[in-house]
Amino acid sequence: MAVVFVTGGARGIGLGIVEAFANAGYKVMVGDLGGIGGDWNYELANGDDLERAASNKGVEVASVELDVTQADSCLRAVKETLERFGALDILINNAGVVDSGAIEEFDEEAWDRIFAVNTKGIFLMTKAALGPLKNSSHAAIVNTASIAGKQGVANMSAYCGSKFASIGVTQSLALELANADITVNAVCPGIVGTAMWLDHLLPSNFIAAKEKMQNFDELMAERIPLGRPQTAADIADAVLYLATARNVTGIALTVSGGIQLN
Ligand code: NAD
Repeated sequence: MAVVFVTGGARGIGLGIVEAFANAGYKVMVGDLGGIGGDWNYELANGDDLERAASNKGVEVASVELDVTQADSCLRAVKETLERFGALDILINNAGVVDSGAIEEFDEEAWDRIFAVNTKGIFLMTKAALGPLKNSSHAAIVNTASIAGKQGVANMSAYCGSKFASIGVTQSLALELANADITVNAVCPGIVGTAMWLDHLLPSNFIAAKEKMQNFDELMAERIPLGRPQTAADIADAVLYLATARNVTGIALTVSGGIQLN
């Protein structure tokens, strides 16, 4: 069975993708920060999250510490994958971070890190994985972009800019790697109740932590045409499709319950 690498796979949408591929019988390598996280405006996945993501799913799921902003870390993670599983057929560039705020107050460091993880991380991991992907007869890359990669949002210029860029990178690589029969697509989640929303976007909009889950569901029931947020499993379904559809390349597939219509 094919081997899949999922960046940012220790929790949230990435973990949903890991579970979907594991349930479908794939061998999965989960890459995430583990012990090398560093400070951000909300907690990123830690070593326990990374260990848990690879446990209880059978022997064919393993994990590796990875910082997608560092070329040597990406190369090491790919090397470990080849040592463990002997191949790498499908790369899911899912790691991401968010921050928001008015441009006058927005930190330059936060701007740089958002682009380093959400955009440059795709470049570095794809470059590191290209050799094994070219050796595969069913190679695919799926990048987690966002509805914020198709339409701007006030106070989110860094995040939206990084996600628009990730769709541009997806389209360009789709054309560039078509000769090697590697498909490259993006998935654009709408709103999923992960740390990004619960620990950053809701609290920064003055919603108390203890009320946040209730508020999240109520808010989304009002805002989303289908009346509910999306789940990590919804996004994983789309990723599995994109990773296996041999004649689909260069698209950015929105999964948003109708909140965005393109
Ligand atoms: P999340 O914070 O739970 O997951 C992001 C993961 O990326 C975390 O496990 C984090 O540790 C990891 N990560 C961060 N920096 C990293 C780095 N430098 N190297 C390796 N891993 C790193 O949030 P999520 O919502 O599951 O986000 C997953 C993806 O989905 C992101 O790309 C995000 O932008 C995108 N997305 C999320 C939503 C949503 O509503 N939650 C909507 C659209 C797009």
